[in-house]
Amino acid sequence: MPTTGVEQAKSSVLSTLNPDGSRKWLRPRPSRGHFYRWRRAVAYLLIALFTLIPYINLNGRPLILIDLPERQFSLFGSVFFPTDTVLLALAVVSFFVGIFLSTALSGRVWCGWACPQTVYMEFLVRPIERLFDGEPGRKTRTGAWRRPAKYLAYFIACFFLAHTFLSYFVGVDKLRTWIIHSPAEHPVGFFVVMFTTGLMMFDFCFFREQTCLVACPYGRFQSVLLDRNSLIVSYDPTRGEPRGKQKRARKAAEGGDDVPLTVLADGAKQGDCIDCRKCVTTCPTGIDIRNGLQMECVHCTQCIDACDDVMDMIGKPRGLIRYSSQAAIEGGKRQLIRPRVIIYPLILAIMLTGLVVVLATKDLAEITVIRARGGLPFFPVHAEQGELIGTRVKVSVRNRTPETVGYSIGLVGVGGGSINQAEGPMQIEPYGLETSEIVILVPPAEYGSVGRREVTLRVEGSDGFSKDVTYGLLGPAWTGKPAED
Ligand code: SF4
Ligand code: SF4
Repeated sequence: MPTTGVEQAKSSVLSTLNPDGSRKWLRPRPSRGHFYRWRRAVAYLLIALFTLIPYINLNGRPLILIDLPERQFSLFGSVFFPTDTVLLALAVVSFFVGIFLSTALSGRVWCGWACPQTVYMEFLVRPIERLFDGEPGRKTRTGAWRRPAKYLAYFIACFFLAHTFLSYFVGVDKLRTWIIHSPAEHPVGFFVVMFTTGLMMFDFCFFREQTCLVACPYGRFQSVLLDRNSLIVSYDPTRGEPRGKQKRARKAAEGGDDVPLTVLADGAKQGDCIDCRKCVTTCPTGIDIRNGLQMECVHCTQCIDACDDVMDMIGKPRGLIRYSSQAAIEGGKRQLIRPRVIIYPLILAIMLTGLVVVLATKDLAEITVIRARGGLPFFPVHAEQGELIGTRVKVSVRNRTPETVGYSIGLVGVGGGSINQAEGPMQIEPYGLETSEIVILVPPAEYGSVGRREVTLRVEGSDGFSKDVTYGLLGPAWTGKPAED
């Protein structure tokens, strides 16, 4: 059997695995200390926010809506589309650099304080569990009705959460329709709700801490995202070791003991850790923080609260486990300014400036011109003004405004040329996309001897929008004679 912390760490592959390979089910004892109370307040605020955000509108749009069927993304009153590739790239890079920066500065503060998995698991699901099963470490409540009642409570919570989650993707109006009408009228919607509820039941009732330990990639990156000066939850071995029962320390401390380290009878120093393992039994991922920084640690601060209680009880200063950095724990000084906390904000500032510039210069409409499929690439047309060469193209217009706008298309700078648009000007709903087929008519002489002509299409909107789009036409090489049918 391993005896020291290092040996235990070496022998432990996964904190939730028994030596025989079976799953070690965790029922962490909550430590309701200072950090727990703050985390609970933050968690309930976040739960309220997560629930209410889909109901809040700005500029007539939901505050956040990831509308997959319509391929639109509403964010704080603005609407984005998959074609906003530059915006998307800048936003994604900013997001990741923001994560790198926050981790370099404050460790896994997101995991412990704000990640929905932690928030709902620790402050909704576990309280339900304790309500029916009793406090971990005390006598389990019995009664045949408790288990089904507990799972019913889980189901109600997950059903509600599934609706909250889906409202970010389908919007509250569609969700309301799904709720008040028979499932037979919207079988796909009903399936999506039940599937999401099932996934949440699986996560919160069965998978639990495994989501953080094996499914979430963030924890695996922490070894490269953290450095020796990042803020982490850590145990202070210089103060805590050698660990041992308090009785032994007291017995050894002659003449009172109000200093962190006491002297044992054999002259060795006794650390403040009394090896009560309360920091382990409270850990939601089942690790022993005394083994050092581990990938499984989600920085939930429960071990800080547990150990502070113990320190209060034995009359030692709090903070044997505390927010600190590896550099500080090893006796050095935590450096706030270091290369990565200068480089990350610089990159972030460049990305955010780019985002603001792209947003500020965004057009009121987005125009795409492509060749119409099928048929001849060009064809002769006998028109009033004489022989012309026609080319069929498709013009797609995305209205990016919250108003319905009429759009007309014209041909610019081609003498004797014109546009034939059978459907007439387009009327496009707010944020809508429409495609119209037009025929560009150009005199044959315009193609020159190479048989090519670049033309300019001007799209004008009733809201004052105007944009010129160039398009390359292929036609017959001009020989000086009209083309024959
Ligand atoms: S709670 Fe504190 S005293 Fe108890 S085992 Fe953990 S570190 Fe040691
Ligand atoms: S070691 Fe402490 S901070 Fe890390 S997950 Fe366990 S209880 Fe939370």
